[in-house]
Amino acid sequence: MRNDRALAGPPLTERFLYVPRMSFGASRCFCAGLRAFGIDARPLPASDDRTVELGGRFTSGEECFPERLTLGDSLKVVFDSGHPPEKLAFFMPTAPGPCRFGQYSPFLRRVLDEVGAEDAMVLSPSSGSGYDELGQKSTEIQRAAWRGIVVADLLRKALLRIRPYAIDPDEADAVYEEAITAACRALEVPFRSAKETLARMRGAVEEAAERFAAIRQREEERLLVGVVGEIFCRMNTFSNEELIRRLEKQGAEAWISDISEWVYYTNLEQRRKWIPYAGQKWSKRMLAAYLKDMFQHRDEHRLAEPLHRFFAGREEPKSISVVTDLAEPYLPAEGVYGEMVLNAGKTVYLWSKGCDGIIDISPFTCMNGIVSEAVYPKISRDHDGIPIRIFYFDGTQSHLDRDLGILLELARTYRKRKTQR
Ligand code: SF4
Repeated sequence: MRNDRALAGPPLTERFLYVPRMSFGASRCFCAGLRAFGIDARPLPASDDRTVELGGRFTSGEECFPERLTLGDSLKVVFDSGHPPEKLAFFMPTAPGPCRFGQYSPFLRRVLDEVGAEDAMVLSPSSGSGYDELGQKSTEIQRAAWRGIVVADLLRKALLRIRPYAIDPDEADAVYEEAITAACRALEVPFRSAKETLARMRGAVEEAAERFAAIRQREEERLLVGVVGEIFCRMNTFSNEELIRRLEKQGAEAWISDISEWVYYTNLEQRRKWIPYAGQKWSKRMLAAYLKDMFQHRDEHRLAEPLHRFFAGREEPKSISVVTDLAEPYLPAEGVYGEMVLNAGKTVYLWSKGCDGIIDISPFTCMNGIVSEAVYPKISRDHDGIPIRIFYFDGTQSHLDRDLGILLELARTYRKRKTQR
């Protein structure tokens, strides 16, 4: 496990593990999954001005925006929580590949040392190994964490289908938040079999489906906007300045790429990496990766069933290789690794499903965003000229509503002539 300093101090089970608040629902459900294994996990506190101030104090301005925010939130815990450093642990996964994400964890370690929190642990499982470093119960913990991520994805997807049309959008938010709480309750109970936990989670989803269905809605034609981009900035409403709500206020419905997409992508890359040597059909690790992927799909299918009625016309790709295949002419998965591949492929997929425009949400200077931006003009030309616009964020966005309005105007024009419906 890449949590070197922890070896000298108390184990993870005797600490509070703080998890980045990538999205409200996913971070809560992810933590609930870990709590079932005796890990006192909790989301980092919500970002605010103090986050920005603390993050800015220890960075030079060249770091990625999500790094500044997660650092600022972690430092708020160090300075404000009242817990001594030896009681603290910070979850900061890492990943191989060309972008700077691999720097987050060592950088956090360095700043913690600098502020005198040497005894705080940094827990850094890697996507390159399929997050296998989570310890002895790695497989079970990963499965619980996966279930947390996927149930939050599904509930968010239902929310984004209902809220834009709801007569009272706050009602939709309330149903979503209560459903997340119910899913957490099902997830966090220890010593339950995986089967029983899943059944209880499914019960929570079924109840949410009934409540979503009861929300009064207006009949309304809205523009459909696909949303791709860097995973943290895309999901974290503080960093993207509530872009999705702003879109909804301006008359659109958003179809956002979810977090599980990235998990499936890392599974695919893992299998690719462990392709056996000549003469062998299978390697053991490859088989394990296949099985993990299969169980994850099975869990997702079971949890998604009660919500299917909301997802007609918004079906996700049957497998992640559909997305990487669609990216092939622009960013072939064999030669490129990272979210840029998903951005390119998903943009084409969303076009094929009838979206009227595409938004990419990325942090300012994001390497994935820059590469994606370079291929979007060609993707647009090859697909009826669908409008694609990248929005960069660094905490200083000033004309977001105006720029969204321009994109939606282009989407309206495109809608009249689009060939995919
Ligand atoms: S994806 Fe972009 S924002 Fe995220 S770490 Fe990589 S370069 Fe930074």
